[in-house]
Order: sequence, then C-alpha cells, then structure tokens
Amino acid sequence: MKNRKLILDSPFYMFVKKHYCPRCSSVLRTKKVSKIVNSKSAEAKNFDFSHCGDANLYGDVLLTWYVFHCECCGLEIGRKQMKSIEKKKKQQMKDKRT
Ligand SMILES: [Zn+2]
Repeated sequence: MKNRKLILDSPFYMFVKKHYCPRCSSVLRTKKVSKIVNSKSAEAKNFDFSHCGDANLYGDVLLTWYVFHCECCGLEIGRKQMKSIEKKKKQQMKDKRT
C-alpha cells in the first residue's frame, strides 16, 4: 500500500483570498498537483512528511498539494512564492506613499 498525504497549508489563503497573476494580473485559480516523493530523496526536505501527530511517513509517498494557476498565461506558482511576491508588492506600495 502506498502512503498518501494531502498537504493543505493555509486553506483560507489558498481558497478564500483573491490573488492575481504576477505576470498578467488575471485572477488566479487553485490547482491540485500530486507527486511521488521518497522520504529519503533530496527534495524530501521541501515537504512535510509528518503524519498523525508524531509519526512520519517513510518511503515513497504520494503527496498532493495545491498551487495557484493562471488560466490566462499558464503560470503556475506555489503558495510560498506567491506570499513573497505579495509581500514585496505591499512593501513597494508603502514605499511609494512615504
Ligand atoms: Zn497570468
């Protein structure tokens, strides 16, 4: 049996708040992506393998998470990346005001 995990961080941020494409300014939609990641592989450190409290998932794990997707220009962008872009935007707006 394969291990599976749905990573759903900040659902409010992902599904309720509106986000705009940094490339073409269209409204972004969310898209489900899945990938099998081995817990011992180099990229495993980018993912949270915790499961049911203290236990961790080992071996090949089918991870599913959400990314932002622009239907207009096809851009795909992760949650963390989006947050840092919006942070920069906010800072720029602040700088303009002062
Ligand atoms: Zn776009």
